[in-house]
Amino acid sequence: MRKVTILGATGSIGQNTIDLIARAPEEYDVVALTGAGNIAQLAEDAVRLRANLAVTAREDLLDDLRAALAGTEVEAAAGTQALIEAASRPADWIMSAIVGAAGLAPGLAALEQGTTLALANKESLVCAGELVLRTARAHGTQILPVDSEHSAIFQALIGEDMASVERIVITASGGAFRDWPIEKLAQATLAEASSHPNWDMGQRITIDSASMFNKAMEVIETHEFFGVAPDQIEVLVHPQSMIHALVGFNDGALMAHVGPPDMRHAIGFALHHPERRALPVERLDLAAIGTFEFRAPDEVRWPALRLAREAMQAGGMMGAVFNAAKETALDGFIAGQIGFTDMAHVVEDAMARMSASDGHIADTMTLDNVLQVDHLARKAAQAAIAKRAG
Ligand code: NAD
Ligand code: MG
Repeated sequence: MRKVTILGATGSIGQNTIDLIARAPEEYDVVALTGAGNIAQLAEDAVRLRANLAVTAREDLLDDLRAALAGTEVEAAAGTQALIEAASRPADWIMSAIVGAAGLAPGLAALEQGTTLALANKESLVCAGELVLRTARAHGTQILPVDSEHSAIFQALIGEDMASVERIVITASGGAFRDWPIEKLAQATLAEASSHPNWDMGQRITIDSASMFNKAMEVIETHEFFGVAPDQIEVLVHPQSMIHALVGFNDGALMAHVGPPDMRHAIGFALHHPERRALPVERLDLAAIGTFEFRAPDEVRWPALRLAREAMQAGGMMGAVFNAAKETALDGFIAGQIGFTDMAHVVEDAMARMSASDGHIADTMTLDNVLQVDHLARKAAQAAIAKRAG
């Protein structure tokens, strides 16, 4: 039996991962499941999958988790240290699916075990790509990307030589506001930004898809993970979300990865790697679909793409600033403090504040230093929000 742990088990990626492993319970020994506020889901899955340990990130919910697990064999724990301890328990495969920079420290702890890490938490590559890859190398750990675009790139690169890669194209659906008049965007409501035309995902990444911050982070993720230069990475709007990414080679060939918009493909690929196994996803009928559309992304509509390029150009820990400012701006939008289009202004302002002051961006990239930059960038973004909220 393979020992598996799921960090962020109660979320959208976590639940899709559980869907796959619950189909073959005899193959998996579940070590730990982690969550945050949804104690009922965490406890139910931990019992159903016979996990050894269930951890909530919320210390204030430890008693609730204990009560939900009373009379079962599942151990309960809570808090940041408990998450790291869960990620450190020996396992053969660990899914990193916490949302946000909160996934970085548990992800690093998982890498330190030297076992395979399925990485959905793109924020850890955005804010600390070099540290994450260095840690994986030092411990002989393989990282398998779970973001659909990055899984697609990874698959298109099998058997290829990176030296012959000319460019990488990642597709974007365009999110909820692809066809809205630009002048209407400032008035977009939380409910409107929280619905995605093609994918069923957590609320934060859904809003990030509407603002294109998700794609902006994926450009940085591509740069960090595959080691390609920023000017070799292109974003292409593709409303059907069926071509996930394309790799362009020096002979002019483009290898595209085509599949239904179902995260169980990328999760299942990472779960069974290096084998391919049957997965419960739709088989596309291309004749019935008929056409795929493509268009260039509009950087006026989606300034996030330009900001990501500026963050890569600045280098150092500017990715951590970009991510933390984006998370804070998103919190501000969800809380109703700022409007939809203010999010990009807040990120731009926070990046400028951090460059102008000693934001410690050029310090050595260690976990402590990334967390310090993250903290300072959140403060800078809060100041920018306060200014815009008037
Ligand atoms: P989600 O909001 O549905 O779930 C997030 C999970 O993280 C939950 O288990 C939650 O309990 C946990 N969590 C939240 N805050 C936490 C904290 N402070 N500390 C510890 N745990 C915390 O998110 P999701 O959509 O499943 O996304 C998870 C990750 O996967 C994100 O990095 C996202 O960008 C990435 N991703 C998601 C999708 C998708 O289809 N949902 C696709 C590609 C990549
Ligand atoms: Mg993606």
